[in-house]
Amino acid sequence: MNQPVVAKFGGTSVADADAMSRCAAILEQHPATRLAVLSASSGVTNLLVALASGEHNPSQRAELLQQLAAIQHGILDSLERPEMLTRHIEEILNHIKELADSAAISPSKPLHDEIVAQGELMSTRLFVELLRRRGTPAVWFDVRKVMRTDDRFNRATPDLAALANAVTEELKPLCDRQLVVTQGFIGAANDGRTTTLGRGGSDFSAALLGEALGAAAVEIWTDVPGIYTTDPRLVNEARAIPEISFSEASEMATFGAKVLHPATLQPAVRRQIPVFVGSSKAPEAGGTWIRNSTPSQPLFRALALRRNQVLLTLTSQSMFQAHGFLAEVFGILARHKISVDLISTSEISVSLTLDSGAELLTQEVQDELARHCHLKVEKGLALVALIGNRMSESGGTATRVFQALADVNIRMICYGASPHNFCFLVAEDVAGQVIADLHRELLPA
Ligand code: ADP
Ligand code: ASP
Ligand code: MG
Repeated sequence: MNQPVVAKFGGTSVADADAMSRCAAILEQHPATRLAVLSASSGVTNLLVALASGEHNPSQRAELLQQLAAIQHGILDSLERPEMLTRHIEEILNHIKELADSAAISPSKPLHDEIVAQGELMSTRLFVELLRRRGTPAVWFDVRKVMRTDDRFNRATPDLAALANAVTEELKPLCDRQLVVTQGFIGAANDGRTTTLGRGGSDFSAALLGEALGAAAVEIWTDVPGIYTTDPRLVNEARAIPEISFSEASEMATFGAKVLHPATLQPAVRRQIPVFVGSSKAPEAGGTWIRNSTPSQPLFRALALRRNQVLLTLTSQSMFQAHGFLAEVFGILARHKISVDLISTSEISVSLTLDSGAELLTQEVQDELARHCHLKVEKGLALVALIGNRMSESGGTATRVFQALADVNIRMICYGASPHNFCFLVAEDVAGQVIADLHRELLPA
């Protein structure tokens, strides 16, 4: 098979045996799909993250472990508890218990990744057995053999050259012969230790593997039939978008549309691989195709929302008619691997948001910045992104946005750098209403 299709099934798609059966049916109907990339069953990663935190006492840990076991046992029961697989899952559950006990004594990032990776390792084992029982043979593959990453645990960066070589040597020959089932989200550092790509990272895994395999398409099977004009959980009137460009969809993912992990489209863009987003619950409902370009390029396409934003305002008299201040500030942030999102400057101040939320803005970083300037940190903000085409080149765009938001206090605006987005910060507690108002005014059915 020269150009296989890669299909990724998210947590709700593999939540239990019924959900897994729907994924199996999708694969059976699409023989060109040779690689299935799975998330952990819904809820499992959250339980594992809690166990890895080391913050729970023994009885709380026992409760978390019991919830975890209940999800795995539910699927095993539906599969009539095959002996070898049941023993294997029990071994993994015992291993998780031991690791969680260690994390309670001394939590660490490498240990965290080793623990949370077990979710994908279990879901893939269970899925291969479910496929076997349906008469669809598939081979289980440990993605850590090919998904080589750096050792930045919790947020590892894949090594693309190593991934490409390993896929050509180890995974492609398998996919040429049969259906392969593997894990999203997880990888391995050079020394073999397990790493993870960040929450929601299975989409990214699927796209990376698709790139390395030279896939004809990457399919993201989730719980919604496509990318919507905004999160359908926020606005009832949101509707699926049949086709969207890489640029627009990347902006959506970057600015909070959870349906795609922010990095998902990078590999697809590099290799011009079309990406499909559909619902494993209703594959017949169709979905969204993401491609290089689309015939329709509406001015306003969609709205995205990212909560928990931190706004940093740095003020320094020495910024006035001087040079080097911004380089200093960005140098500090870069050394701490903090990536900056939106920026707005005035004569003696610069305001910026961080895409990674508050957790990277440690006291150490704040102290370092405070040595160069006065630092103000504001929380409780949400980033609203309006996505579209040629917005910065079209007269009246800002008027229409501001009219829809006449009474809202807009804390910061970013507009003009990209023709595809118009972003602003608002208070977290009005963000849902802002999205609803903008959707009604700018994206009517
Ligand atoms: P999975 O577990 O399959 O990876 P996710 O929960 O990560 O699924 O992503 C799917 C969810 O993304 C949807 O249930 C929906 O609430 C949310 N979402 C946010 N923005 C959008 C959007 N613009 N279109 C579709 N879904 C969106
Ligand atoms: N299981 C991981 C998570 O919940 C990765 C994923 O589902 O994409 O974040
Ligand atoms: Mg997801």
